[in-house]
Amino acid sequence: MKEAVKIYQLIKNSNNIVITSHLSPDGDSIGSSLALYRFISVLGKSAQICHPDSCPDFLKWIIDDDIIIDFENHRLEVIDQMKSADLIFCLDYNTQDRLGSSMGEILSSCKAKKVMIDHHVNPSEFVDITISESSASSTSELVYELINYSGNLELMNSDIGTPIYLGIISDTGSFRFSSVSSRTHYIVSHLLNIGVDHVNIYQKTFDSNRIDKIKLHSYIISNRLEVINSYKVSIISVTEDILSSFNYIKGDTEGLVNLALSIKGIEIAAFFTQKGDKVKISLRSKGLFSVNTILTDHFNGGGHKYAAGGINNDSIENTILKFKSLLPKYF
Ligand code: 5GP
Ligand code: MN
Repeated sequence: MKEAVKIYQLIKNSNNIVITSHLSPDGDSIGSSLALYRFISVLGKSAQICHPDSCPDFLKWIIDDDIIIDFENHRLEVIDQMKSADLIFCLDYNTQDRLGSSMGEILSSCKAKKVMIDHHVNPSEFVDITISESSASSTSELVYELINYSGNLELMNSDIGTPIYLGIISDTGSFRFSSVSSRTHYIVSHLLNIGVDHVNIYQKTFDSNRIDKIKLHSYIISNRLEVINSYKVSIISVTEDILSSFNYIKGDTEGLVNLALSIKGIEIAAFFTQKGDKVKISLRSKGLFSVNTILTDHFNGGGHKYAAGGINNDSIENTILKFKSLLPKYF
């Protein structure tokens, strides 16, 4: 990672540092943002994390109060921070529209130097320095490497390591996807040696579910699962009415698509979620097929080969029909 020393110098020489990440925060966007923020703090500098929207409930345990301001609820404050920044980090995304169109436009009009740290394929060129390693398990792993290759590994502590660990387990399905390397395990081994409490991280993140959330998952699997054996595809879907009948809060369906993927003989799982007059699509693959191309080509989306997402401007029924009609071409 040849850019690491240069980025370290930029941090040292900047006065207003902003850390951004993508819409619908997940464990990796929250984890990498927080780890970088804490590293910058240890260097004696300050930074502001600005995300497009708020942190889901199941990840709130890791963030200290008010440490992240979000564009959805604090628009003017975020604009102010971004406009006065001299250095902006773009973590865990590869195109500026992943900030949402308004925040993306603000980013492009900012005078700050921009640094991307990301692991999605095909980064677009909207930054000054790019660290884009699609083979990395997570952006959080790349933040560890930034600290390492900038010559600052002795500053690594459990405060920085805890969100890095969270990001890695979130993006690797707890070490089961092919993006996990021996390097990932080496990094995690180091984190445990310096006191990162993996049991606590698992319990706070994955074993602290609300009963409504568990019931929602059971309902969707019992009533809204369709298996298309001829294409090794499983499909689950949920409407806003169903979500509200289970008192849905943001983050409640996180990870559910992996349950649909866990079925024996299934290679691809699709999850369709109604959002107003749009439908959010999540695709996962066990590794035989790439799922990002169908989303890039037809559903305004993208992501990784084996985990990708997109959006369709139509009803949930029509979106599923459109997806099914494309199965012969892609899978
Ligand atoms: P998820 O299905 O969990 O929302 O997202 C899976 C992966 O696809 C993540 O790496 C995420 O960054 C990416 N992704 C999700 N939604 C979108 C989208 O609308 N556009 C693009 N380009 N990528 C997405
Ligand atoms: Mn990620």
